[in-house]
Amino acid sequence: MPSPAGTARRLALFGAPGVGKGVQAAALRERLGVPHVSTGDMLRAAVKDGSPLGRKVRAILERGGLVPDEVVGDLIRERLGRPDAGDGFVLDGFPRTVPQADLLDRVLAGRGRALDRAINIVVPEPEILDRLTGRRVCPECGATYHVRHNPPRVEGRCDACGGALRQREDDTEPVIAERLRVYQEQTSPLIERYQRRGVLLTVDGRGRPEEVTARIVAALPGQGG
Ligand code: ADP
Ligand code: ZN
Repeated sequence: MPSPAGTARRLALFGAPGVGKGVQAAALRERLGVPHVSTGDMLRAAVKDGSPLGRKVRAILERGGLVPDEVVGDLIRERLGRPDAGDGFVLDGFPRTVPQADLLDRVLAGRGRALDRAINIVVPEPEILDRLTGRRVCPECGATYHVRHNPPRVEGRCDACGGALRQREDDTEPVIAERLRVYQEQTSPLIERYQRRGVLLTVDGRGRPEEVTARIVAALPGQGG
């Protein structure tokens, strides 16, 4: 069953790499008080820790491929089973394939729940390439910057913690091209699935992050839409 009338708290963010899912998920966590669940962040944390999972997935992340469905499925099942996700969540980067969407349906149905909204964030491809090639991240605190659109005060240094900024391994041009290809092939078919189900929201991802958040919130049932 979906969330009670007038609220939408079980959300999934969709869109090609670079449309701003991570930033919007963090903003929605603040606005709605639900946890931000990012499979990309979980996988990168595993790589950083050098855990067995991290060793298994490192090479896949570096070449822009998808981690096996069973692996991310286990992560998601565990994460959504924690108490803080009982009353809602914003998924970022999951589901990314049809089997993952099936798993999500089963996990939620097992609790008498369903996804309230799938939010498709759309940005034209030239802008995506510009965003990803210029992105810099702080490995210490996770803050993100852009060399031209959102530069740090001191070049190469995180404003928040002073960490040395770097490029994500998968933000180089050949890997970006592969991520976009994989998105078109494996993830974009999910849009139609949620459209048919009547839970799809399509949102223009251009403009300042706050503007995009405002568009999403305005379209959510119980928040304005
Ligand atoms: P982006 O959306 O910008 O590509 P993410 O941080 O969501 O970035 O994902 C980074 C990488 O992590 C992906 O390219 C993929 O290798 C892996 N990954 C993340 N989520 C999934 C998933 N649901 N299924 C398979 N692989 C995933
Ligand atoms: Zn930092």
